[in-house]
Amino acid sequence: MAHVLPPLPYDYDALEPHYDGQTLRIHHDAHHKAYVDGLNNAEAKIAEAREKGDFALIKHWERELAFHGSGHILHTLFWEGMSPGGGGEATGAVAERIKKDFGSYEAFKKQFSTAAVAVEGSGWTLLCWNPFFKKLETLTAEKHQNLTQWGVLPLLALDLWEHAYYLKYQNKRAAWVEAWWNIVNWDSVNRKLAGAVG
Ligand code: MN
Repeated sequence: MAHVLPPLPYDYDALEPHYDGQTLRIHHDAHHKAYVDGLNNAEAKIAEAREKGDFALIKHWERELAFHGSGHILHTLFWEGMSPGGGGEATGAVAERIKKDFGSYEAFKKQFSTAAVAVEGSGWTLLCWNPFFKKLETLTAEKHQNLTQWGVLPLLALDLWEHAYYLKYQNKRAAWVEAWWNIVNWDSVNRKLAGAVG
């Protein structure tokens, strides 16, 4: 199922004067649209590779998937994270959680702003919920295309650092990968998937 550009949840000029309508229109209609198109193309190419059984370009298309997928997800979050009636201190459960994990709203705001200013070149600063550590964190994505899609919840992980297999498999990483398939815990993956899908 193809991804579609989500409509803005407000008019182009609704965030004036803080965010000007001309920038918002180009940003959403052109930039975000390009990520959606690129994501659909990457998914189509990966499906084609599966059909042909030819994964020679899988790393390239995964990189495209990461770049455009993250771009689509992050821009959607960006639009949803703004509102003409927004601003002011955090409220509700988020406010409580920020106080618990950052000490105070002021401390959180300063941490987030400093991280944002420190981004080198293109990037994002994000307030994230870490489902493993059960806490809020600020994290920065410099180059959101670095082989991940921000927003995904990992269900199964294979460690390919040399420390994970070198004593037994030395430079034969493919042998380690093949061996690993014999010990995958699908019950664990199923539990995590059920929790994620809800
Ligand atoms: Mn953008």
